[in-house]
Amino acid sequence: MSKLRAIPLILGLFVIGGLFCGPYKAFSQEKVKDKSMFKKMIRLFPPLVPVDTVNVYVIGDVMLHKSQMDKEYGPFLEDLSRYACSADVSVANMEFPLGGKPYTGYPSFSAPTDYADYVASMGFDVFLAANNHIMDRGTPGLDKTLDYYAGMKGVRFTGAANKTVADSTINPLIINAKGIKIALVNFTYGFNTGGPEEGRTVHMMKKEDVAEMMARAKAAGAHFIIALPHWGEEYVLKHNSRQGEWAKWLAEEGADVVVGSHPHVVQDTTYVKTKDGRKVPVVYSLGNAVSNMSLINTRLELAATISLSRTFLGEVKFLGIHLDWLWCTLPGKLTDSYKTVVIKEYEGKRDLWKDPSDYDNMIESLKRVAKATGIGK
Ligand SMILES: [Zn+2]
Repeated sequence: MSKLRAIPLILGLFVIGGLFCGPYKAFSQEKVKDKSMFKKMIRLFPPLVPVDTVNVYVIGDVMLHKSQMDKEYGPFLEDLSRYACSADVSVANMEFPLGGKPYTGYPSFSAPTDYADYVASMGFDVFLAANNHIMDRGTPGLDKTLDYYAGMKGVRFTGAANKTVADSTINPLIINAKGIKIALVNFTYGFNTGGPEEGRTVHMMKKEDVAEMMARAKAAGAHFIIALPHWGEEYVLKHNSRQGEWAKWLAEEGADVVVGSHPHVVQDTTYVKTKDGRKVPVVYSLGNAVSNMSLINTRLELAATISLSRTFLGEVKFLGIHLDWLWCTLPGKLTDSYKTVVIKEYEGKRDLWKDPSDYDNMIESLKRVAKATGIGK
């Protein structure tokens, strides 16, 4: 596997501030340069040659531990909302079933439906359901969750299916964003409990299952395939050999990007070079999105922005993947609630913290994890 450091992965791309208008200017001129048949027209009428940019924003594990239920959700993801809302597609791994009362945290989760409403209200419009906690309340819990998601306006889900939504229509989930067909392929290594009863599916880390989803994506004419595995070893900052082998396999099967979750910490990144000459970025784990975890490294997280463009001529191009470091603050540290912040927006602002030692912890964690994973700060 290519051992390219993640630094070029990040530095080669635009900053998030450019997300709103930067890519258009930066790439549109470059894109049209070599299209000789339109060259003259382009020079004369550049505004008539549109280049659409599509951004897919992905965050890691959205958790709801018991102590989080006692707090107002409001601040949890509000700092990510601007990014989620400005992206064309925003994806969150929902690490719980909406299994009804009693609402419970670890080890067997059941979250109230208003938590899903809250995450959607922050701009996340695709929920990932293939994870090891989706079956925590058994098949009834899975059904309640998927039925609720299916009834939410503006939200789609993937990774699982039941009798309400046919598996083949949402796995993979094909999203048409400005004419770019993006396929999301979500699957999990397993469950903490037993699997679903007949008539339901949660997609598993089994090659025949995932290969079938890849084939469906291609048959549907997907321009771009994003694999979203729920995998890896918890609390370990480096990917294991199974993830490495799977990343190569996913890339050869047609994945254009691989973005993982589950370990509750950030893991290293790499590129896989495929036999057909593609260079597929792999982010092994984004870590959490929001949680009550306090174990070392579990509060440092990543958000990924995957950018694509589509020219007037219909050509779809992968522009790159940008990573932002996040930090999940616990109650009493920055606010009275949980609040995940984008670190670059808070660097140098130690005086904003109620508990400034948490700011120091954030900076130390960033240095430590950036070094251990090889991901540039
Ligand atoms: Zn998990």
